[in-house]
Amino acid sequence: MEELLRRSEKLTTVGQLAAGVAHEIRNPLTTLRGFLQLQQETKKANPDHIDLMLSELDRINLIVSEFLILAKPQAVHFQQKDVRGIMREVLSFLDTQAHLHGVQFRLDFAEEPALVHCEENQLKQVFINLLKNAIEAMPKGGVVRIEMRPEPNEQVKITIEDEGEGIPPELMPHLGEPFITNKETGTGLGLMVSQRIIQGHQGTLEVESEVGQGTKVVIVLPAAGSVAEEEEQKES
Ligand code: ADP
Ligand code: MG
Repeated sequence: MEELLRRSEKLTTVGQLAAGVAHEIRNPLTTLRGFLQLQQETKKANPDHIDLMLSELDRINLIVSEFLILAKPQAVHFQQKDVRGIMREVLSFLDTQAHLHGVQFRLDFAEEPALVHCEENQLKQVFINLLKNAIEAMPKGGVVRIEMRPEPNEQVKITIEDEGEGIPPELMPHLGEPFITNKETGTGLGLMVSQRIIQGHQGTLEVESEVGQGTKVVIVLPAAGSVAEEEEQKES
């Protein structure tokens, strides 16, 4: 059965999130402290332990940087942009990673520009989060379909569809909540950050998924062209 998701209204406040971040960071810190103490006692540096310590530090760094995207009031410069171009840049950035995982991007972009009023870096962040999830969902490789087109109702529709493991139905209602993750090195913040950003663009983000079949994320954003034209007409 297909499940649908629209969850922007369920997002927690930054305050609650901060408590969660503190909790999430405490675990790797405890590990780090343990290993350091061991090295102090044995006066020896075990390379395996150092690797673990580095990966715990990376994890803290990731949690903090994802949290900052949410918590820091960023200088936002909304501009009229073609999302096809933004997506192309992200895809070329992720190309090597996709290739390493046997993942192929298949694009289906409209011929005409898909203009939205957006903060480019934030949208890039969303696309990176979603594409990384798609790649991570296909450990044996596969195809990610990316569709982008302006819709007749002055909206732009962006679809990212993978053929990965899918999301268990019991997890669906919790997507977008912080720290929901089934990955060893996951933060469970990517979807939440993405939903926040799309919400800030007056858009919607929906997830449909079927276990063993794949996952489809649909983003709908208001088209910018129509708004600009109206304003131009008013001025003349
Ligand atoms: P993270 O990737 O750090 O785990 P996210 O917020 O990006 O955090 O995703 C939360 C969880 O949602 C993932 O751990 C995974 O269980 C599930 N998920 C998200 N996207 C997909 C996808 N494309 N395919 C399968 N599961 C997904
Ligand atoms: Mg993720």
